[in-house]
Amino acid sequence: MAKYWLMPHDMDKVTAYNAHLASQLELYKNYDVDKPEIHIAYNDSKTLMGGDLWINDMKFVVSQPQDNGFVVKRDWSVPDEVDPVLKAWGNYEDVNMWSSNRDYTLTSWFDSTFLHPTMNNSPDVKYTMRMRCFSPRRSKRFAPKITMYQSARDRFERDREVAMKPARAFAIMFPELDHKQIIQLTDQYLERFAKRELFIREGSDAKDFVKAYSWEQAPTDNVNTTYQRKSSASSCMRYSFDQLPVHPVTAYASGDFNMLWTEDKEGRIASRCVVRVMEDGAYRGGPIYGVSEQAIDILEHHINCTGGEYGCDGAWEGARLLRQPVEDGEEGFYAPYLDPEPRRLTDNGEYLVIQEGGEIDANSYQGILGGEDCRCSNCNTGMHEDESYYSEYCDEVFCNDCYHDEHFYCEYADGDYHVDQSYTVYVPCNGKPGYMEERVSDWAVEYGDQFVYCDDDNEYWHIDIAYYCEHEDCYISQRGIDAGTYFISDWDFECYPDDQKATTDTGDTISIEEAKDADLEYDEKTNTWKEKEEND
Ligand SMILES: [Zn+2]
Repeated sequence: MAKYWLMPHDMDKVTAYNAHLASQLELYKNYDVDKPEIHIAYNDSKTLMGGDLWINDMKFVVSQPQDNGFVVKRDWSVPDEVDPVLKAWGNYEDVNMWSSNRDYTLTSWFDSTFLHPTMNNSPDVKYTMRMRCFSPRRSKRFAPKITMYQSARDRFERDREVAMKPARAFAIMFPELDHKQIIQLTDQYLERFAKRELFIREGSDAKDFVKAYSWEQAPTDNVNTTYQRKSSASSCMRYSFDQLPVHPVTAYASGDFNMLWTEDKEGRIASRCVVRVMEDGAYRGGPIYGVSEQAIDILEHHINCTGGEYGCDGAWEGARLLRQPVEDGEEGFYAPYLDPEPRRLTDNGEYLVIQEGGEIDANSYQGILGGEDCRCSNCNTGMHEDESYYSEYCDEVFCNDCYHDEHFYCEYADGDYHVDQSYTVYVPCNGKPGYMEERVSDWAVEYGDQFVYCDDDNEYWHIDIAYYCEHEDCYISQRGIDAGTYFISDWDFECYPDDQKATTDTGDTISIEEAKDADLEYDEKTNTWKEKEEND
């Protein structure tokens, strides 16, 4: 438990609070607090709500000392700490080990770049704890400075962070590093995190849209992806679409939209946003895609300055896209996936108008919208003809999923069949003894020569595991043989019912008829058939 002191600094207030107490106190002297009563806030900071003071063997209960003429002091020292940096930083018992990571990108950069190669494994260097305590983050206002808490008191009592040059921040957190290591670390940091100089660009020509979408991207930083702010790496429209005669985003060049983007010094694309330009000049953007928070921020600021917004559904309703029909009499238009809802378009003969309930689905990343000349008759998914499946049995078109839910390939008929046109049969296991179930076409069973009906179990069996029984003039399955209801003669390899079984004294299993034909006679004692003994 942390130690607290109260120091009277306004005796009038203390007197108003408790005149007897005030008469016992000296101004500006520290008094130990016994039984401190602590309030812990959501951010783990602690406030002394009250406690007992022992003065001249008298106990005074003080509540709300801050309001009653006292300065509250807390002892931040950590006498037993072996890490000298932590000892100087102060008591870290209030540091939340689980939620104090304020700049994950920076911390993980430290871990990979710096921690393992640079630090020795001395127990005096509690790397993780230092990072938790100082809680360094990249300064938003003073890049490339690093902002951090220099002491426990700064952090928990004053809530005071300091932005400092990276080299100084590193030296404070890791004084074990020598000058050269600090310089090296700083260089690496700047290379990784220094703000890139970015230039804002804007245009409404088709080529502007294509450039912002498909030109070379600047190196990608970590972006906290939201619905409105997205990482460029996640854009499905960023490819060149070389296989199409025009890039689908050229459809935005209808006059209703502007392309807004940033470039770095090398001309690489750092962020972009398609904005609808309203009559009053306000921009209504789709989501902003960017390689870094900074690049996204720039466009956000630009859009906000027009009085606009971005990433809002409905913001494009009524706006027009260029009508760019696919050639060769095919259906469909070259147009992009639409980020904001509604993702439907109406073809008015001149433009494609973004409209709830429009007949064209703008949910596709293929670069062609409305090309789906067919829909799955089961689930109503739109698709291109190439992706559709026609079922002769149903006389309907299906999507891949629905088709294969109800159709299967029959290798005996070499064709697809509906499950309603099928039998479940038994076939040999591949190279293994036994048999298994398989679904085959009715054609294979009814017209093919691979399957026979077996009377013993009323199922269809593959001929390799079905046996004709002349005795009963029917086929018997492997199951009947395995069960011992029927057997195969060792002599003529024919199938016989069990009641026709004869065993010879030499161990062969044959039919009684075969035994008789061979002039064998039955010996009741041994239950076998053997050669007749000749009587002279
Ligand atoms: Zn379907």
